[in-house]
Amino acid sequence: MSARILYGKEFAAQIKESARIEIEKLKNKFHVTPGLAVIIVGENPASQVYVRNKHKSCEELGINSVVVEMAETSTKEELLAKIDELNADKNIHGILVQLPLPDAIKNHSDEILNRIDPLKDVDGFHPMNVGKLVTGSPALVPCTPAGCVEMLNLAGIEIDGKRAVIIGRSNIVGKPMLHLLMAKNATVTVCHSHTKKLAEVTREADILVAAMGKPQFVKADMIKPGAVVIDVGINRIAPKKLVGDVDFDAAAEVASAITPVPGGVGLLTVAMLMKNVVTAVKLQIGV
Ligand code: NAD
Repeated sequence: MSARILYGKEFAAQIKESARIEIEKLKNKFHVTPGLAVIIVGENPASQVYVRNKHKSCEELGINSVVVEMAETSTKEELLAKIDELNADKNIHGILVQLPLPDAIKNHSDEILNRIDPLKDVDGFHPMNVGKLVTGSPALVPCTPAGCVEMLNLAGIEIDGKRAVIIGRSNIVGKPMLHLLMAKNATVTVCHSHTKKLAEVTREADILVAAMGKPQFVKADMIKPGAVVIDVGINRIAPKKLVGDVDFDAAAEVASAITPVPGGVGLLTVAMLMKNVVTAVKLQIGV
């Protein structure tokens, strides 16, 4: 194996440490304790794990964490009322609704997410925050793609002038990643399920981001020798076996650097959420 393995743990620790220092400052200088409310509707086991991890990180860093558990049968109106209450709560600076929502209200996801005050939208999904990202004045940016770019910075991997290819065009990963990499002066191509001759495109990438949700889809022969490979995918292929979108062992023979799954960018998502809570407080108190 020749590639440098980019373990999320060390980069997440650096991001969290700088958030911890900022939180101390907010408490000592401005007498503000950052507060994060996470709304979880129903009992999706994966969502429960994610919410627990977020809560634990908040406790580590001194963020006041409130987990709002709502019944699987909650209506859209009940959820909107809860968001209104949290929007008005001065002790809560960040609000997120854990996705996916139960089937009965899933179709209303946009309306529900858009109800969050954009200044408290720590997931960065509100159209106002999306617009700011696209127009180059980012405020609160989706945590997973922001974490990937932060990791490249911390790892000392140059983005400026590089050819980047993203596989996946979701609102959560692919599209924000396009804007973040373009803002760092990469030349970016976004591929998706209708892209023809995918391997020809991916082989041009100096930085290849896989965010498609297809287990081990990206094979070694789709990767340019020496490329940096960021694997965002999380796919469960057996009860206790998670893999990414990249065929890791073979890809590591070709790439110059690669993120593992698990243990890669997944850890950065929570770290960036902590950073976003700090940003949200600063936006709200105007410092
Ligand atoms: P999504 O299903 O919303 O989007 C998948 C994208 O992949 C789509 O744009 C689709 O066009 C593209 N795609 C699918 N098959 C393709 C193919 N054969 N060729 C080219 N493109 C193809 O998924 P998402 O929410 O963006 O998540 C993607 C993956 O990242 C999932 O495995 C998800 O679990 C993972 N994820 C991880 C984190 C994290 O914290 N690390 C966060 C979010 C998502």
